Amino acid sequence: MPIYNFSAGPAVLPQEVLQQAAAEMLDWHGSGMSVMEMSHRGKEFMSILEATQRDFRELLAVPANYKLLFLQGGAIAENAIIPMNLAGRKGQPATADYINTGSWSSKSIKEAKRYCNVNVAASSEAVHFARIPARDSWRLSPDPAYVHICTNETIDGVEYHFTPDVAADTNNAPLVADMSSHILSRVVDVSKYGVIYGGAQKNIGPAGLTLVMVRDDLLGNALPGCPSAFDWKIVADNDSMYNTPPTYAIYIAGLVFQWLKRQGGVAEMERRNIAKAALLYDYLDSTDFYRTKIASDCRSRMNVPFFLSDEALNEAFLSGAKERGLLQLKGHKSVGGMRASIYNAMPIEGVQALVAYLKEFEHSA
Ligand code: PMP
Repeated sequence: MPIYNFSAGPAVLPQEVLQQAAAEMLDWHGSGMSVMEMSHRGKEFMSILEATQRDFRELLAVPANYKLLFLQGGAIAENAIIPMNLAGRKGQPATADYINTGSWSSKSIKEAKRYCNVNVAASSEAVHFARIPARDSWRLSPDPAYVHICTNETIDGVEYHFTPDVAADTNNAPLVADMSSHILSRVVDVSKYGVIYGGAQKNIGPAGLTLVMVRDDLLGNALPGCPSAFDWKIVADNDSMYNTPPTYAIYIAGLVFQWLKRQGGVAEMERRNIAKAALLYDYLDSTDFYRTKIASDCRSRMNVPFFLSDEALNEAFLSGAKERGLLQLKGHKSVGGMRASIYNAMPIEGVQALVAYLKEFEHSA
């Protein structure tokens, strides 16, 4: 029986990548060493790092004036690292604008308040984060140091299907986006953003690696209290080697990037992700037995929260799913219900198996 893992993260990785990593585990390319045992400054690991950086830049067509940084601490650490690097741009005390679209942007806001003034320019909290606030409702401060958005809310299941415009929507301030849970799932015009960041453990690889893309002109403004390992300029000047980077996580990310290129790149992943999400949402929409709460034009293609109309059946639903190899479907504790995360590495067959089970469970209940 095939196993399909719907975890929100750490999440499913491509089978081919895991097989390759297993084959190379004890002896990487005749080096006599596991990647885990290599000096991060040795020629073997340097070749892995360079290929990983090159492939990522190619996959997302990252313009030359952006630095790609490999950091640690996850997106939660970035919630502090971002104001520590950007709030100094405007002199102190600076104000940064945030759009609150769910659990993760709420966390970003809470953390940023420790470093600068925060103006919540728009929030969908009053509608239980069921949609992205309309752009004409954003109330920006006059001269924000940056405008922060979370382009895919992993817990609530909302996703931006538009890119805010820097002149019209952010008062010409740089747009900073947490793309943790949908990076590489769709084509992105990187040049529209000042900073894009995310943890790796959804669409990229194992936990422990954080990616940051930052436009050159935004470097060099770190607040005096910013730890040097988190000062983006220092990290960029040292090509992500200021401290020892998470070498094995970078290696696996590199294998995932090679896999993505073999699949046809990000445009092909986006095509598949649209098809996978449509399959699942179309079925959920066709019945009253299951419910979704997100406005149809804001639904995430990656994280699909859904609810049984009769919540008393939740446990039976989950245990039946597990028997059929459909794992980790339980919703986040703050939202309840179910959540299917259908990242790049989830094949369409996994979504088909889930929809078949949704039907079977409904008819047997
Ligand atoms: N932002 C988003 C959108 C996330 O999905 C997550 C993790 N689920 C985080 C931030 C926090 O990431 P980490 O735990 O890696 O710090």
